[in-house]
Amino acid sequence: MTDVLAAFEAAKGFMPLDEGLALHAAAKEATAGPATPGLPLLEVGTYCGRSTILLADAARSAGTVVVTVDHHRGSEEQQPGWEYHDTSLVDPATGVMDTLPEFRRTLHAAGLEEHVVAVVGRSPQVARLWRQPLAMVFVDGGHTDEHANADYEGWAPLIAEGGLLVVHDVFPDPADGGQAPYRIYRRALDSGAFAEESATGSLRVLRRGPGSLAL
Ligand code: SAH
Ligand code: MG
Repeated sequence: MTDVLAAFEAAKGFMPLDEGLALHAAAKEATAGPATPGLPLLEVGTYCGRSTILLADAARSAGTVVVTVDHHRGSEEQQPGWEYHDTSLVDPATGVMDTLPEFRRTLHAAGLEEHVVAVVGRSPQVARLWRQPLAMVFVDGGHTDEHANADYEGWAPLIAEGGLLVVHDVFPDPADGGQAPYRIYRRALDSGAFAEESATGSLRVLRRGPGSLAL
């Protein structure tokens, strides 16, 4: 675990350690707990793999995998001129963002390549192809309402009963950040299909109850 945490702290990205530990604990519980043992984990929003390595460590312990989905072109706020832009992540050959090489370096450094399936694509397109029930879905992709709602609608129905929905960047107060992740978190609770398990910083962990999910 020390190696994994060192790799997490060395990776590019913005997730603080306390939220990372909460994410790791949720992934451990989802993959090893009685409700969804051995089912895969799914992440929307790979970026440079900072959160992926925590999910991969949990997957390794449980003999399963984490599937991580990203088009690797960055979100709105990561584009040139925006607050979260990192010029070192621009591909000089194309002049556009490409976080895939840095993600692969992160995973290699952490020694976790075997436990991760990386899908390069848009979250709704990948979700439409997906059938397998999931132990946990971690939503940390695009933060517009359009993207956040599409992530929720595409992936939340695939969470197995007893599995977890984890949403990052949930800010109930608009002064702290954008509201789209908060709105899908509310949407999940208001559906009646999910109940809150824990909150750490902007990370919310919800558990899927029995019955179908009305979108
Ligand atoms: N989970 C990462 C951070 C993810 S940042 C960490 O904790 O380090 C958000 C990522 O979502 C960006 O890399 C961006 O390219 C990706 N993204 C945004 N909208 C997307 C979409 N519709 N489909 C796939 N990836 C998307
Ligand atoms: Mg985030």
